[in-house]
Amino acid sequence: MKACVFTLGCKMNEVESASLMRGLEARGFEVTETLGYADLYLLNTCAVTAEAERKSRQAVARMRKFNPNAPVVVCGCASERDAEGFLGKEGVVLVLGAQNKGKVLDVLEERGIFRETEQSFCELPSPKQTKTRAFLRIQDGCNRFCSYCLIPYLRGRTRSRSAESVLSEARTCGAKEIVLTGIDISSYRDGEVGLGELLLLLKNVPARIRLGSLEEGIVTEKFLMQMKEAGNVVPHFHLSLQSGSSSVLKAMNRRYTREEYLACCKKIYEMFPDAAITTDVIVGFPTETEEDFQESLSIVGEAGFARVHCFPFSSRPGTAAAKKKDLSASVKRERMGRMLEAAKRAETAYVSRFLGTERTVLFEEDGGYSENYLRVYADGAEEGMLARVKLIKPYRDGVFAEIMEEIK
Ligand code: SF4
Repeated sequence: MKACVFTLGCKMNEVESASLMRGLEARGFEVTETLGYADLYLLNTCAVTAEAERKSRQAVARMRKFNPNAPVVVCGCASERDAEGFLGKEGVVLVLGAQNKGKVLDVLEERGIFRETEQSFCELPSPKQTKTRAFLRIQDGCNRFCSYCLIPYLRGRTRSRSAESVLSEARTCGAKEIVLTGIDISSYRDGEVGLGELLLLLKNVPARIRLGSLEEGIVTEKFLMQMKEAGNVVPHFHLSLQSGSSSVLKAMNRRYTREEYLACCKKIYEMFPDAAITTDVIVGFPTETEEDFQESLSIVGEAGFARVHCFPFSSRPGTAAAKKKDLSASVKRERMGRMLEAAKRAETAYVSRFLGTERTVLFEEDGGYSENYLRVYADGAEEGMLARVKLIKPYRDGVFAEIMEEIK
């Protein structure tokens, strides 16, 4: 595990940081004082001038660029002066001020921060897979703490499987499609390897790669370029939405607005015009007004979703949302009905866009999926068959096709 102790300000800070570094080394950390990738950041701040304070605050953002999943612990004078300001920053888990620096490491121990940092990915034997589609676990846990969700409490903080282990299973599983799964695969990181870099490592695996559920923040130009460069990643983005209303998203502790989410979809369509964007929507969150709900309804069409999984809000004791007053069952039921209709309309519109076109489909026992997640049925299709097909007409939950050519 790597720790970065970053120091601003006076000689005294430098001396204290050197002691902290020694203490971390004694706990088995590889320690650096240069900003770069690390599993834990300790920021020793300075408040001698306004500029020093500004640089101290800026350092948090710089750390998060190297590893957005690593906890940041802040101590030193700037944090003594404005603890709240640091605590409000994403990634900061603890603010300790300027006094008692000698106790910093003990406090980290007490608060379980070392334990969290050291939590490692639990390798399991490869599950029994078909030769058609294999689900490959690459990550576990979550750091996001959405206000309605218990997962971070139950599964712990995010941790990733080593890229080497992912690659080894991908090469040997023999499946024609590999689905990369995890609780929050957007946070995948093995040293310098993030999800985009992992896709590049998987580019020579003889299978098409599908991504599991993604968070909005991963959709950057760089990531989309990496997907494209990999060449074997299908254009299907399961991008969790949860609500189309910015105020509900805020109450859910999701980290984007309606506009930011739609901008992500736009970016995806610019790079992958035929992309399938699928999503999850929670209906009847406690703070959701009829107006908020209307925004959820309208975004379903606006985003051009290929599929929408919607669920009525269900209160989970122990979460922040459970403290809010639940909407009545009848309101939730009525809104669910309207959301299901909107989802159906979006799905029908999505299928219609591709009628008459050719796609590549990997067939399973009953129908199969195109690269862009159209559910396809065809006469003569067999499990495990990869075929070029022509889409003829809407059928069941997808489309009926004619097989043009089997791809061996
Ligand atoms: S909803 Fe997903 S992203 Fe949010 S806390 Fe739960 S697992 Fe994490």
